[in-house]
Amino acid sequence: VTDWQGKHVTVAGLGVSGVPAAKVLHGLGAKVTVVNDGDDPRAREQAAELEALGVTVRLGDGATLPEGTELIVTAPGWKPDKPLFAAADAAGVPVWGDVELAWRLRRPGAAPWLAVTGTNGKTTTVQMLASILKAAGLRTAAVGNIGVSLLDAVLGEEEYDVLAVELSSYQLHWAPSLRAHSAAVLNLAPDHLDWHGSMEAYARDKGRIYEGNRVACVYNVADKATEDLVREADVEEGCRAVGFTLGTPGPSQLGVVEGILVDRAFVENRQKNAQELAEVSDVTPPAPHNIANALAAAALARAYGVPASAVRDGLRAFTPDAHRIAHVADVDGVAYVDDSKATNTHAAEASLAAYESIVWIAGGLAKGATFDELVAGSAKRLRGAVLIGRDRALIREALARHAPEVPVVDLDRTDTGAMLRAVQEARRLARPGDTVLLAPACASMDMFANYNKRGDAFAQAVRELGA
Ligand code: ADP
Repeated sequence: VTDWQGKHVTVAGLGVSGVPAAKVLHGLGAKVTVVNDGDDPRAREQAAELEALGVTVRLGDGATLPEGTELIVTAPGWKPDKPLFAAADAAGVPVWGDVELAWRLRRPGAAPWLAVTGTNGKTTTVQMLASILKAAGLRTAAVGNIGVSLLDAVLGEEEYDVLAVELSSYQLHWAPSLRAHSAAVLNLAPDHLDWHGSMEAYARDKGRIYEGNRVACVYNVADKATEDLVREADVEEGCRAVGFTLGTPGPSQLGVVEGILVDRAFVENRQKNAQELAEVSDVTPPAPHNIANALAAAALARAYGVPASAVRDGLRAFTPDAHRIAHVADVDGVAYVDDSKATNTHAAEASLAAYESIVWIAGGLAKGATFDELVAGSAKRLRGAVLIGRDRALIREALARHAPEVPVVDLDRTDTGAMLRAVQEARRLARPGDTVLLAPACASMDMFANYNKRGDAFAQAVRELGA
């Protein structure tokens, strides 16, 4: 689309993506109608703001396709089986998500995208990647969940050479024409299956990120499903599959040899068959899953042509965001670590793998997950467990099945003081040298506004212990 003047566009859903999309489209001259399921005070506020600009807003009816709609731009979270999309399909109306819109609105000659998806590690990897690109002197930004929004990155004043873009499976579902320079799928574990309908559909949506890649499709050697997605993708001629591994890398792979991150895929000096990138200790925190994130970021940066020295400088300059394996304090020889962002079992598994002797604080909203695999795999590293939140019985039962000797404190409390109690119980169970790890494997919303607040409550409780 180049001429938006008078085009009837329906924006599905107010909120973080809908409101800016409606404004941009209205600014381009389109005739915009926003439809929204909810009709709450927040929605009314947003509607009033848009109506003042001349945008039509229909609250409380997200199912009916407005008369004359030529294009739908949907919030990524809207499920594909919604009646609105069936109506669009029947009428031959295309549906774009927020990413598709940003992709289509790119200016000619705009910055290429280095894209990252995966069940866990997206934000961290994109930030590492941006840090590496910056160290190479490139104008770039980490775009996505945190940092700059996609529409701002594409349409704003700031000029970029290349973008490091985080993409969720929802966004990829609604982004049919996206073509990245290079892309990585970090890992694939069951998550959001209620939205996608099945593991196959989830994998298919993630795999979209590789479609049309020009230089490299980066996959996780330890996660065969990611490699399968590369094989199934239709890419540009000359585009290469590049693996990352925590072991010794094979040809066309990046990996780790004796504590050094090395690159065998993008070797500058053809005399050598590997290039040293950085030391494991340059990565914060140097936990295995995070080394994997660093290797994926390095692979994308190298695909873009960044020198090895910038990988090291960029990784050294990177500091992770709050609540991602953040070391809070040592009290009486026990380390207290906040990984509140571990909101699913796959993420919790990664942080439990990073420590030897753990008092584990877990629980919250399970979102349909089962805990047997997680608990069985971590049992030998557990000194004890303190369980909080609504679905804690599921974890307690898994512990009883797979780690019957591990002492468990089951906290039947959801009030604001519960986290302090949990930390006190954890302290009682811990021995010097242990780690008390908040890695809930669950969402936080039964007890806290979000995972940030949960992590803050943990840190506050630890400070009270130390005082
Ligand atoms: P996302 O943006 O995909 O949610 P984040 O980078 O915010 O990912 O990390 C979320 C959580 O996932 C972290 O707290 C950490 O526990 C876990 N995690 C990070 N990277 C990985 C990885 N490569 N594999 C498994 N778990 C990971």
